[in-house]
Amino acid sequence: MFQLIDGKATSTTIKDEIAEEVIQLVKNGGKVPHLAAILVGHDGASETYVASKERSCSKVGFISTVIRLEDSITETELLEKVNEINKDPDIDGLIVQLPLPKHINEQKVIEAILPEKDVDGFHPVNVGKMVIGLPGFISATPAGILELLKRYRIKTSGKSCVVIGRSNIVGKPMSILLSQKTEFGNATVTLCHSRTPNLKEVCAQADIIIAALGKAEFLTADMVKEGAVVIDVGITRVKSEKTKSGWKLLGDVKFDEVAPKCSYITPVPGGVGPMTIVSLLRNTLLASKKEIYKGIS
Ligand code: NAP
Repeated sequence: MFQLIDGKATSTTIKDEIAEEVIQLVKNGGKVPHLAAILVGHDGASETYVASKERSCSKVGFISTVIRLEDSITETELLEKVNEINKDPDIDGLIVQLPLPKHINEQKVIEAILPEKDVDGFHPVNVGKMVIGLPGFISATPAGILELLKRYRIKTSGKSCVVIGRSNIVGKPMSILLSQKTEFGNATVTLCHSRTPNLKEVCAQADIIIAALGKAEFLTADMVKEGAVVIDVGITRVKSEKTKSGWKLLGDVKFDEVAPKCSYITPVPGGVGPMTIVSLLRNTLLASKKEIYKGIS
């Protein structure tokens, strides 16, 4: 019988812990953590993500500010806005909701954010620190997955782990973190992508599979060995006549047939998603305490 990894319940517990920490911080004369989000344009999914981040901030007692900009904004104007926030001592963390309109170079914008305010952990300085095992902001989704593994006491050391997907924000950092010489690393990691031949055979020998490719119900039972741990990162919106909204979310894993073979598995929704937001909150709290980038005001 498999055990469901409940990201929703875990994230609620962690939010309570963060809220308590904020109360103590303020009691001891510290400042209330402040997260700013820049939202360019009116993309529906981006609006939903930012609204959810705002709600989470208010739940844990953070201040949150959303800066809404029209998608006609130029790259220079957006960079100026980022710079303005970089200089604002009251704002601890800044995220720029992706994707950005095509005429704006995303990488340029990411690199314009001060590393000590880059709570998404996308800046090359933070990525570099993560790679060599120095303290820095770790990309929220991989950090959330590690936290789930820790809280469910799922051993990674000595295990064979397959990560499907090599994006800079999920697959690549996940593969590095799992192979680090740390308690929740020490795995032997295979990073797969669209050019990987015999993916089915590679997955079928894995103790842990992290599916982060964005293809609904891609991972099927024949790709998973008995007793494997399966973490489903994918989120694909599909039309549904059964829901009030007219759509539903599907993960990268064909849950009904894969789950019976697993020891642990995350659902979609309610698995990795809520943990991503929690990691962002955790990074913002760290940013406000200046514990990672000491001495920077
Ligand atoms: P991405 O940038 O589109 O990257 C997808 C990766 O999957 C690429 O490396 C691609 O290979 C690989 N891939 C695509 N088709 C494949 C196939 N048939 N076989 C093997 N590999 C394949 O995606 P992402 O930003 O990492 O996101 C992945 C999924 O996670 C999406 O559904 C996204 O919505 C979801 N997501 C969820 C959260 C959360 O909080 N739960 C957070 C972030 C993302 P190539 O490199 O060769 O093209």
